[in-house]
Amino acid sequence: MKVLKFGGTSVGGVEPVRTIVGVVREMEDRGERVALVISAMGGVTNDLLEMGSLAEEGKDFSPLLRQMESRHLELIQALLPVRKQNAAIMPLKIYFNELEELLDGVKAVGERSPRTRDHIAAYGELCSTLVISRILGQYYGCVRFQDSREWIHTDSNFGNARVDFDKTNLRIRGAVHAVPEALWCVTGYIASNEKGQTTTLGRGGSDYTAAILGAALDSEQIQIWTDVNGFMTADPKMVRRAISLTEISYTEAMELSYFGARVIYPPTMIPVFLKKVPVLVKNTFNPDFPGTVIRDKTLTNGSLIRGISSINEVTLVNVEGGGMIGKTGFSGRLFSLLAREGINIILITQASSEHSITFAVSPGDAARARILIEKEFELELLTQKIERPTLEQDLALMAVVGEHMKKTHGLSGKLFSALGRNGVNVAAIAQGSSEFNISVAIQRKDLSKALNAVHDAFFIHAQKTLHIFYLGVGHIGRTLLAQIHSHEEALLRNNSLRLRVMGITNTRKMIFSEDGIPLSNWQEALQAGGETAGLGDFVRRMKAMNLPNSVFIDNSASPEVVQWYEEIFRANISVVTCNKIGNSGSYDQYRRFREAVRKYGVDFFYETNVGAGLPIISTLRDLLVSGDRIIRIEAILSGTISYIFNHFTGDASFHDVVRQAQQLGYTEPDPRDDLSGRDFMRKMLILARDSGYPLEPEEVVIEQILPPSCLEAESIGDFYRELHRSESHFGRLKEQAVAKGKVLRFIGCLDQGAVTIGLKEVDASHPFYSLSGSDNIISFTTERYSNCPLVIKGPGAGAEVTAAGVFADLVKVGAVGYQ
Ligand code: ASP
Ligand code: MG
Repeated sequence: MKVLKFGGTSVGGVEPVRTIVGVVREMEDRGERVALVISAMGGVTNDLLEMGSLAEEGKDFSPLLRQMESRHLELIQALLPVRKQNAAIMPLKIYFNELEELLDGVKAVGERSPRTRDHIAAYGELCSTLVISRILGQYYGCVRFQDSREWIHTDSNFGNARVDFDKTNLRIRGAVHAVPEALWCVTGYIASNEKGQTTTLGRGGSDYTAAILGAALDSEQIQIWTDVNGFMTADPKMVRRAISLTEISYTEAMELSYFGARVIYPPTMIPVFLKKVPVLVKNTFNPDFPGTVIRDKTLTNGSLIRGISSINEVTLVNVEGGGMIGKTGFSGRLFSLLAREGINIILITQASSEHSITFAVSPGDAARARILIEKEFELELLTQKIERPTLEQDLALMAVVGEHMKKTHGLSGKLFSALGRNGVNVAAIAQGSSEFNISVAIQRKDLSKALNAVHDAFFIHAQKTLHIFYLGVGHIGRTLLAQIHSHEEALLRNNSLRLRVMGITNTRKMIFSEDGIPLSNWQEALQAGGETAGLGDFVRRMKAMNLPNSVFIDNSASPEVVQWYEEIFRANISVVTCNKIGNSGSYDQYRRFREAVRKYGVDFFYETNVGAGLPIISTLRDLLVSGDRIIRIEAILSGTISYIFNHFTGDASFHDVVRQAQQLGYTEPDPRDDLSGRDFMRKMLILARDSGYPLEPEEVVIEQILPPSCLEAESIGDFYRELHRSESHFGRLKEQAVAKGKVLRFIGCLDQGAVTIGLKEVDASHPFYSLSGSDNIISFTTERYSNCPLVIKGPGAGAEVTAAGVFADLVKVGAVGYQ
């Protein structure tokens, strides 16, 4: 026999009841025997309790009563043929009369005991089950409506009664075996004590009724029909990427249900666990979805944990004092006090120094807990053996749960690095020795970020998401967005990495979207929906969104943007940029960036600061971290300068080559901006600093190519005239080189911590001799690459390759975050 339980929403309206009928008929047609356990229609139990309290206060409860009545009548009218309706309405009317009498009684005496409260609440299940049994009765000859008060026997703890399984099991078995052909429709939630008075099994207790039935009858399966797709890896309202679980163990179901999304009433697990009855959780609103099976032996799902649960609001109570050290009985007194007073403790931790005990309670209990402790330990407080308990408010609790967590190492490391990396501070930690659960108390404002970060870290099958905040949509910025757009699907497919652009700004406008900005039409979105841009506003909004794995991309060349980097790092947001102003300003600033990056555990990637997309910074980093030592770096890191000297051969005059470079668009509007070597200087400075030399910009020596007359020329026209006049100077330099079989190259050189940039003659054995076009080139002479340097060569400018370099850095942020 299978026991099928239908929850409040599943019987809450005509459509879901139709589904129920379909499900039952299909099973019956297959020849399966079923018993149903039915909850009150959704919201009805709350309404009944509300009616009770209105009555107690002498207020009018009848509108709620009428509403409840009409909801039930509606089901009858919609799902029963007219000629059968009256027979169903009659007994229903009797229930409503009884209920009304009961409520009138409460109103008359102005008092409602827990016993009466349960009695009133029982009518929810009585009415719904009656109606469903009549609806099913039109298809089957032997449908039995069963008031579970006749079957389930409990103590007199009204509101949360304890079941006497011996008596209960006997009654259930006796009744069911006496009528083997019956289709049972049993009320959930309600039971009775030895005097026959109505008791209830706790809110949500219909699940428990189903478990009691299933265990008593040795059912092959219990089905819990509810309004979600079974258990998920996390609460889908908080974690959008939460995925459904096909199977979980009894313990996991219990752990996941205690915290957060209540898929199932936790006590339900006890009877089914003892009898090892599998429980299938199904969705009435999506009946084809396979749902979750709760069973004894489960396989791992490829992740170290099964799921993450959370409680939105807790307060930590901290009891501290030297008087507790080594004293037995202290925590015994403390916790029995709280138990006696009905204060539920959600989590406990005690440091091994025994100097403090911290526990979490619902915020509503915190103040009372403190007062109770102060009373109980008055003497200890007076003699200063302990201090006044302190409360830490606005916290939330998050727990990772899984039976396979046991004896697995690396798990808590992963958990805490995901939290740490995203700047989530942990206020308390608890791990049961069962190792099924690690719980952490964190700031409530960080809960969503923490859940998402931890979810991403553990569920490798789920996607990892980078939340991108994007500054600068000039040539490079536009190109990068286009690259991301065309590659995002492949990244998701092949690397399980999802890139979501949450904010975009240029100097005029900015937009944000909680759902991510669609990259197919970001231009229109920015134009149409954008607000007036402001750098400070952009940073504030980015911080306020408080998303895990956030990355700020700076595509500008602006010194103002750089001023915000530290604040951005402090908000645990990584920075990826092609803007070299940040790294080539004062050394102090360079150092502060690194300090912040280390302190807040974020990434700062800037491969494109030097040689665009060429892997120069990363190569240097790899050499250093693997223990190599830089002896010398030589480089040509300006495409313009590269072009000019690569073409200043044969008969060409220097003047003509510069003009040609300008005509081809290789130079700045004023070619002197390139020829002065300032930009080149910045790149050399970054390389020197990354190699470990604390240089200031002024310390880089630039030997000018241009004679003073050219540098001082007023206009660009004058500059070219002066250049023409200086032709003999350049010609001489070239001839001298040629005479020695050499060529001229403008080279930056880092040698023993000193950086010089100047004109050099190189022979055919030098790697820069045969440089062509406008390529950049760099050679690393290191301890390991000592005879033959490591050389990187290729295009060192251009929107495509620069954007690609920024893109690669961005993906690296994703990679590091999940190690
Ligand atoms: N109707 C009861 C409640 O709302 C029991 C249940 O639905 O499981 O708590
Ligand atoms: Mg580069």
